[in-house]
This record gives sequence, structure tokens and C-alpha cells, in this order.
Amino acid sequence: MEDITAPALSHAERPHAVRSSSQLGTLAVCEGFKPLNTEKVHWVTAQGNRGHAALDGGDDEILDTDFEQRMKDCCQRYSDSLPPASQVFEEIKVATIEGRWGYTDRLRLRENLGPGRGVLIDPDTADLLDWKFVRVKEVTDAEINLQGKDYVVGIFEDPRFPSINTIHVHFVMPRFESVSTATFTRDDVPRLKLEIFAVLRRAKRSDSTSYRGLTLVPNYDACRYCGASGNCRALRGIADTIGRSYDPNNYGIHPPIPTETHASAVKDATSRAQLQKLAGLMEQWAKSVRHHNLTASLEDDKNLPEGYAVEWAKGRRFITSVDGLFVAAQEFGLTNGDLVEAATISWTKVEDKLRERAPRGTKQTVVTDFNQRLLELEAVDRPEPTPKLGKV
Ligand code: SF4
Repeated sequence: MEDITAPALSHAERPHAVRSSSQLGTLAVCEGFKPLNTEKVHWVTAQGNRGHAALDGGDDEILDTDFEQRMKDCCQRYSDSLPPASQVFEEIKVATIEGRWGYTDRLRLRENLGPGRGVLIDPDTADLLDWKFVRVKEVTDAEINLQGKDYVVGIFEDPRFPSINTIHVHFVMPRFESVSTATFTRDDVPRLKLEIFAVLRRAKRSDSTSYRGLTLVPNYDACRYCGASGNCRALRGIADTIGRSYDPNNYGIHPPIPTETHASAVKDATSRAQLQKLAGLMEQWAKSVRHHNLTASLEDDKNLPEGYAVEWAKGRRFITSVDGLFVAAQEFGLTNGDLVEAATISWTKVEDKLRERAPRGTKQTVVTDFNQRLLELEAVDRPEPTPKLGKV
């Protein structure tokens, strides 16, 4: 039998059972919940680990701040306020149902002085204390809290505690300076086991490869800690509904990407069409990336993409006086031909000028005659049409 006075591992190091006691409440909300598999320890969890370690071993050196000390003292004071105990166990492992196990934070077996009140007899009442260093909100009430119930079942069924008939569960929450308590007796065990079993059985369905996730129940408090959230069908459904409301016509229509993405290697018309669409999207995407990166960098240079700096290109010069240009050009030996060659003439703008000045009713004729005259004078040339792909 395990030595219950000597826990092998600290609170932070203890291995958790699959669908551990602390996950039961979340599994009751959503059967598909899976714990996040992350190495990173949240600072609140780290505080809790230190608090547990100080309460388990009594060494306050491990605590980082006065606040942590106050939280630990709050837990200890509450424990000391309970009726005297003949034995106190820290972090003992108890076997619960379905091959699972849990670690109780503190188990106090109350002194039992027997009928004559002079002699200690086997304890019949225990206090089960669970330290909760929660920050955002208080834990679920002890009356319905499945974690407490799981431990209660484990203690009542443990051959080391045959005389215990009543267990008082205390969830101590030092940040809230509050405690949630409930009392269970041995008679409650069948009901408690059935409740836990029902939750576990329903959750087990989600392990099957054919599980379709139709009965998942998204809930922010569960989903944000859920390791299955990345592929969760229910969450995806919510995101899709929102996406459709933003872009009712195009949401969910993705241009299929051919397996061969190098245009020179693509052979069939369908794949070419897919690449053509994709190229248009990529152009927009590239423009958007440049625009947003530049805007963010101009707002605050902390937003600069790594390895980049904002460069200020010189503005383009433009002529404000054509007469001045002709005078200077003549003085420096430039001909009108040199100037036209250097200038970019906008054909549309020239035609617009002609239209502006032509008498009403003759605008188009004037433009046509002008273009004709230029051709006669061999003053213009139009290169061969340039091909480009247009959508039909
Ligand atoms: S992410 Fe999905 S599986 Fe996980 S708790 Fe939320 S609804 Fe359930």
C-alpha cells in the first residue's frame, strides 16, 4: 500500500489521469473538451503551484511576493479554524472510478473522542480541503462540483479510511477570501459515482475516429482552455456564421489551389484558370500587406517589420510653367522634339482638351480629325496590340 504521508511529487509535477477530477466540470459542459498540451505555465498557475508547495511543505521561502504569502496564510488560517484533526495528509493519491485517480490537497481526519470523550477512536469525519488560487471567478459550488465529488468517492472507497462516514469538502479561494463547502456521506457514493460515470461515458464518445462532434457545446470558459479548439467543428460553425454575416456573397468560396502551382509546369486549362484567379488575389493581398505594414510602422516604429526601416523616397518633380520650360530648353539647346521625347503625353488628356475647346456638336468629329491628321503627318505610331488575359 502506498505511504500516504509521503507524496512522491510536488503539486506541479503530479501526473494527471486522463479526464482528471479537475476536468470533470468542463467535460460536463462539453463532452469534447481536451486539456491544452502546453509547456507554458500561466503566471496564475505558477502562483498556485507555489502556494500549494508552501501549504504542502510549510516552506514559505518558495513564495515570491507578500501577496502570495497572504494567500497562503488565508488558506492556512481557514484550515486551522476547522475542528481539531487527529491526522492531516497533504497531497495523497486516491483512486477514483474508471481507472482514474486524483490528489487531494489536504485531508484532515477529525479527532474522534468517542462516547466517553477521553479516548481517541477511529475518525468518522474528514475535512477535504482544496486550494483554489483562481483569479477570474470563483469555482463551481462545492455542492455540485464534480472534482470534489470525485475525490469524495475516492476517499470513501479507499481501504485506508474505512471508518470515515462523513466528508466535508472545502474549496478555499484566497483571492476571493471565500470558501465553498458541501457535506457528503457514504450513502451518497452510488449517486456520485453515477454522475461522474455519466459525464465520462459521454466524453469517451469523442475519442472515436467516427465521432462527428454534432453534440459539442461551445462555451467560452471551456473552449479557451481546450486543446481541441483548433479543429473543433462547433467552434468552426460559430466562426462561419460570423464570417457569412460579414461577407454574405463570397464567404467560404475559396479558389481551389492546384497541386502544381508553378505556372510553367501546369498543363491543363482548369489549373491555369485556378492559378489566374489566385494571382489576382495574391496581388490584392500583397498590396494590402505593404499598405498595412507601412501604416502601422508610420504610427509607431515598434510596429516595423523585423529588418525593415521606413525610407522616404523623393517626390516626383513636375513642370508648373510650360513657357518657362521652353525658354530654359531653348537657352540650353534642347529642341521641341527633345522635350516631347522626354515627356509622357497622355493621349486621353490631349483628346479631352480638344473636346473642351470644340464647338458643341463637333467634339467627336474634331477628335477623329485630329487623330487622322496626326496619322497623315506620320506624327504618331501605334504599336501592335499587347495581349493580356481578360475574363469571359
Ligand atoms: S473547443 Fe470544441 S470540443 Fe473544445 S470545449 Fe469548445 S466546443 Fe468543446
